[in-house]
Amino acid sequence: MSAPPRTVAVALPLPVDHPFDYAVPEGWDMPPEGALVEAPVGKGSAIGVVWGPGRWAPQDGVARLRPVVRVLDEAPLAPALRGFLARAADYTLTPLGLMARLATRAPGLGDPPPVREVYGPGDAAPDPATPARARVLAALAEQGGAPMAPTELARAAGVSAGVLKAMAAQGALSRRRLARDRPFAPLDPMRPGRPLSPAQAGAAATLRAKVAAGGYGATLLRGVTGSGKTEVYLEAAAEALGQGRQALILLPEIALTAGFLARVAGRFGDEPPQWHSDVPPAERRRLWRGVARGEARLVVGARSALFLPFRDLGLIVVDEEHDAAYKQEDGVLYHARDMAVLRAACEGAQVVLASATPSLESWVNAGTGKYDRLDLPERFGAASLPRLVAVDLRRAGLKRDRWISPALAQAVAERLEAGEQSLLFLNRRGYAPLTLCRACGHFFECPDCDARLVEHRFRGRLVCHQCGHAEPVPAACPACGASDRLHATGPGVERLAEEAAALWPAARVAVLSSDGADSAVALRAQVEAIAEGGADVVIGTQIVAKGHNFPNLTLVGVIDADLGLQNGDLRAAERTFQLIRQVSGRAGRADKPGLALVQTVAPEHPVMQAILAGDEAAFLAREAAARRAAGAPPFGRLAAAILSGADEAKVWEAAKALAAQAPLLEAAGVRLFGPVAAPVSRIRGRWRVRLLAKAPRGVGLQEALRAWAAAARPPASVRLTLDVDPQSFL
Ligand SMILES: [Zn+2]
Ligand SMILES: [Zn+2]
Repeated sequence: MSAPPRTVAVALPLPVDHPFDYAVPEGWDMPPEGALVEAPVGKGSAIGVVWGPGRWAPQDGVARLRPVVRVLDEAPLAPALRGFLARAADYTLTPLGLMARLATRAPGLGDPPPVREVYGPGDAAPDPATPARARVLAALAEQGGAPMAPTELARAAGVSAGVLKAMAAQGALSRRRLARDRPFAPLDPMRPGRPLSPAQAGAAATLRAKVAAGGYGATLLRGVTGSGKTEVYLEAAAEALGQGRQALILLPEIALTAGFLARVAGRFGDEPPQWHSDVPPAERRRLWRGVARGEARLVVGARSALFLPFRDLGLIVVDEEHDAAYKQEDGVLYHARDMAVLRAACEGAQVVLASATPSLESWVNAGTGKYDRLDLPERFGAASLPRLVAVDLRRAGLKRDRWISPALAQAVAERLEAGEQSLLFLNRRGYAPLTLCRACGHFFECPDCDARLVEHRFRGRLVCHQCGHAEPVPAACPACGASDRLHATGPGVERLAEEAAALWPAARVAVLSSDGADSAVALRAQVEAIAEGGADVVIGTQIVAKGHNFPNLTLVGVIDADLGLQNGDLRAAERTFQLIRQVSGRAGRADKPGLALVQTVAPEHPVMQAILAGDEAAFLAREAAARRAAGAPPFGRLAAAILSGADEAKVWEAAKALAAQAPLLEAAGVRLFGPVAAPVSRIRGRWRVRLLAKAPRGVGLQEALRAWAAAARPPASVRLTLDVDPQSFL
C-alpha cells in the first residue's frame, strides 16, 4: 500500500471557477491554506493560492498529479481575505482564480527579498598599509563601524572601488548583505490631532467607539466640502492603530495628493505608504509584504488597495464614496465601495463611507438603518458654502461660438482684479467635440469605433476618446475637397482656454484635464502648482471636482450644467447633482466667501432647482421615489450582459441565443431586456450588443445569471461580459 496522496487545491489566475489539484512532493511540509505556490500550468507555470486540501483520489483514474513547483516565502493569505475573495467572486460572477489574482498582484512576489552589499571593518590589518587603505578604515571608524555601501565608502575615503575589493579579499574589510527594503515608518496614534469643532469631535467619538467595540459596522459620514471629514475619520484610524489593528483609506486615484498625505502625516507623525498605479514595482512588493506581515499599519490607496493582504484590518474608509471611479470598468468588474463593505464584513471591521454628496445607494442604506449615519453640518474654519446663482443661457446674450456669458466674464474680471482664482468647469476634453465640413456636411468619425473624433488643437490631432485613435487635422475636407470649410462645433476645455485668453489677455490660464498630463503623478503636480497660485483662471474637466483644495479660489463657473443630463442614463440626475455640488464646493475656502455661477438653458429643471437651492435631502428623496417607482437600483437590481466581437453577425447570433434562454431567468423572477446595439456600438473594431437583466431585491440574481449564461455559451470569437450592478450603460 502506498501512502495516501498529499494534495492541495490551488486557485490559479485563470478564468475558471474551481481550484486545481496538485501533488505536494514527498518530504515537503504541507503548505498551509492561503499559501502562495508556483504550480505548473500547461508548459509554463503560474502563482496561485492554496485554497484547501485537494479532492483528487487514486480511484479518479488519473495516473498522477503534477507536483507544486515551490512554496513562496510569503505570508499566507488570511482566512478572512480568502473568504472575502470567494464572496466577491460569487457576487461579481468572476472566476475565483481571477479574483484571487487581485490579491497576489504585487510584481516579483516569491523573488528573494532584494539585498544590497555593504562593507564593514574586517579582522585582518591591511597589507601593505597604504594611506588610501588607512583612509578607508578611518571613514568606517567615523561611522562608528556601521557598514557602508561601496559607493558611499569609496566616496568618503576618496579611493576607487578596486581598493575596497582588494581590502575585502585580504580580510581587511568584511562584506555583508543587508535587506534593501526599508522598514515602515512607525505611525503614532497618540499624537494630538488638529483641534476639532464640536460636531467633528462628536462624530469622531462615535466612530472611535465603534472601532473600539470591534466587529463589523458601516457608517455613512456625510459632510459638506471643507467640513473636516478627513480629521474625523483619521480619529477612527487612530483608534484602529491604537488597538494594534490595521487601517485602509481608499481615495479616487487623482485625489491622492501630497496635500492629503501631509494631513495624514500631521496626525500620525509620518506619511503612510501609498498604493496606486504610479507606485513603482519594488515599492509595491515592499508594501504588499509589509501589509501581509502587519508591519504596514495604515495604507492610503486607490481602489485596488482593497485587495491587499491585511492581517488584521480594523477599519476601511472609502472617501468620496459616490465617485464613479470606484467602479472598475475593465478586467474584473467590481465596485470598490460595495466590495469595501463586503471586506469589512468578512474582516469584522468598521467601514466608513465619506462624502459631501453621498450616492443614492448609501443614502438609502442609511435611511433603512443598514448603515449608521453621521452628519457634519458646519463648514469647519470657513464662513459658508458658496452662493449658487443660475445664469439663464437663453437670455445671456452669448455670441456664436462663445460660451462664457457676460455675467460670468464680469465675475471673473472682478476676481482677477482682487488677485483671486477662478475655475471654469466644462466636462469635455479637447478643443471641440465635433468637426464638420460646412460645404458638404461631412464629419469625422473613428474608423474602429462608433464615435466622433474630437479635435485636440494643442496636439493638432483628431482623437477618438474610445480607443485613442488619432489622426492629423486635414487642411481640406476628405469627402468634398473643399478647403477652409472645416468647422469646430461645440466647446471643449481647450477652446474655452482660447476664449479665456482672448477675454483676459493678462491672466494666466491653466487647463486641467487628463490629456495635459502623462500620469496621475504629473497631474497631481499640476494640481498642486495651481493650488499654490500658479494660475489665475483654471479651466478643468471633472478631475477638478475630486477633493482638491484651492485656497485662493473664490469663483466657479459651470459652463454647461445641462451636459450631464443629456445622456439619459439611470444616474444622470444624481451624477449631475453631485458633480456640480462638488465643483462649486471648490470655491470659497479658507475664510473667503465663494460664488458659483451655473450656466444652464433650463434653470427651472428640478435637478437645477435642487442644486441651486442646495437642498440635498429633498433631491435625494425625490430621486429615491422615482427609482423606487421604476424598480431601479437601489430598490431593484440590474445586471448587464455585453457581447462583443469582430464579426457583427456572430455577436448578434450569440445575443439572440442568450435571449432565447430568457425563460431560465424568468423562472427565477428576473426579467430580461434586449438584445440591443450598445449606445457605443463598436469599440476598437469590436461590435457590441447589450442585454439587461432586472430583478427585485431578494431574488437570487447571480445564481440565475450563472445558469442562464451557461445555457447559451457564446462561441470563442464572441466575448460575454457580465456586469452586476452596472454603472455604465454605454
Ligand atoms: Zn466637405
Ligand atoms: Zn476609436
